[in-house]
Amino acid sequence: RIAYVNGSYLPHGSAAVHIEDRGYQFADGVYEVCEVTGGRLVDETRHLNRLERSLNELKIASPMSRGALSVVLRETVRRNRVREGLVYMQVTRGVARRDHAFPKPGTPPALVITAKSVDMSKGDANAAKGVKVITLPDNRWERVDIKSVGLLPNCLAKQAAREAGAYEAWLVDKDGFVTEGSSTNAWIVTKDGVLVTRYADNGILKGITRTTLFDLCAREGVRIEERQFSVAEAQEARECFLTSATTIVMPIVAIDGRPVGNGAPGSIATDLRSKFHEVAEIA
Ligand code: PMP
Repeated sequence: RIAYVNGSYLPHGSAAVHIEDRGYQFADGVYEVCEVTGGRLVDETRHLNRLERSLNELKIASPMSRGALSVVLRETVRRNRVREGLVYMQVTRGVARRDHAFPKPGTPPALVITAKSVDMSKGDANAAKGVKVITLPDNRWERVDIKSVGLLPNCLAKQAAREAGAYEAWLVDKDGFVTEGSSTNAWIVTKDGVLVTRYADNGILKGITRTTLFDLCAREGVRIEERQFSVAEAQEARECFLTSATTIVMPIVAIDGRPVGNGAPGSIATDLRSKFHEVAEIA
């Protein structure tokens, strides 16, 4: 495998950043994960828009123009011969002598890009069975709309899910409402067939898959409500599912050990999963 690191394509096994990179010391950086299908990028425009927004919110300089980044993303995918998989990009505030305050203006941001092949049949197999989630308190900071590499609470939540035999942890705010998963957005389907997902304020990451699913639902005439929902409402819902670039639409069959619907993957989630790439930008 080959990784792109600050202007060079390096063997993945020996690709490295400096020990004083601010991403390493302070989690002072942002990232994106973009799906690759047929060797092409899924929803690149929206991912690069969100990357730009994350950088702006944190006042991190852009490492290169959008056009150049687009070229390097494709070159990294090509050099790794990825047909089906994921491309990861990370930008940090760069390398500087350790100090919490920002380094002096002009310090170049650091850019790393990796690409890996993923066996899509594994995701399809998970979707065919449906996945289980557990719920945990959302103990993250108040700006999770920024796609920061500071993911320690998310890692702890995902690990707790794994240890409970679940696929994902749904995070619950102090009022008992689900915000999102540790690395996915959260959705339910009401008895009337209306999709419900939390409004995208500072309390969730506004997923690209979430946004593209809005487009698909508009095409299919499926209604969406952006509002809070509680764990109890989710457990009583007709269907539940989660979304992310890595999982697309993934049906949920149990929450904290309680079956959702009839305990099988929901038909609406399954249908939306099968149609997702018909509306996504693939370029
Ligand atoms: N929420 C969180 C916390 C995430 O980490 C992710 C995946 N990066 C998502 C939601 C889903 O976002 P996307 O659809 O853009 O992958």
